[in-house]
Amino acid sequence: MPQILPTPPFAAPALEPYIDERTMKLHQQVHRVHVDSLNAVLSGYPEWHDKSAGELLVELGEMPRQIRRAVRYHAGGQHNHTLFWSWLASPGNGGPEGELAHDLETTFGSAADFRERFTAAACDLMGSGWTWLALSGERLEIVTTANEDSLLLHGKVPVLGVDVWEHAYFLSYGNRRRDYLDAWWNVVNWDAVTRHYVAGQAAAGHLLGT
Ligand code: MN
Repeated sequence: MPQILPTPPFAAPALEPYIDERTMKLHQQVHRVHVDSLNAVLSGYPEWHDKSAGELLVELGEMPRQIRRAVRYHAGGQHNHTLFWSWLASPGNGGPEGELAHDLETTFGSAADFRERFTAAACDLMGSGWTWLALSGERLEIVTTANEDSLLLHGKVPVLGVDVWEHAYFLSYGNRRRDYLDAWWNVVNWDAVTRHYVAGQAAAGHLLGT
């Protein structure tokens, strides 16, 4: 089955005033181009058509060499943006709780330290890309990837991620990436982040045979 453009779990104006409706609509168009392009690339390769974007990324090394570069970019774009929508919600979502809060404190010192280090990594990323809270095995770490590269290419599990391509913020924030990031924290869906963390730990445990 070809790739399908998922509908974000919130209406386009729901993230205002932090992420405005025009930006959300533009961003969904960017996502649509990845989906349409991936389907176009795979149209001549029916044996790969039924794979999810995540499966395509994990199995990239087994794909025909001539389509790997395009699949890396567009399956990454499909996977990353689908995750990104899942981590967003209307303002007023509190912060990390429970085991996630505990593990962020253990790893980074405090929730505030985590937030500052994550924001600094996102500001320092040169060019277009993503910044992630990732599970590497059972360890939490802050990682950046260039362009639309997925953490799955590196064997890491995404727990939270932010898109720092200019299309994610320039309509509202111009080139002020830091202002966008400070606003973005207000619309992080911490329930969803916790779900990704629990699922990622289960996957890591599975890989470790526990
Ligand atoms: Mn994007």
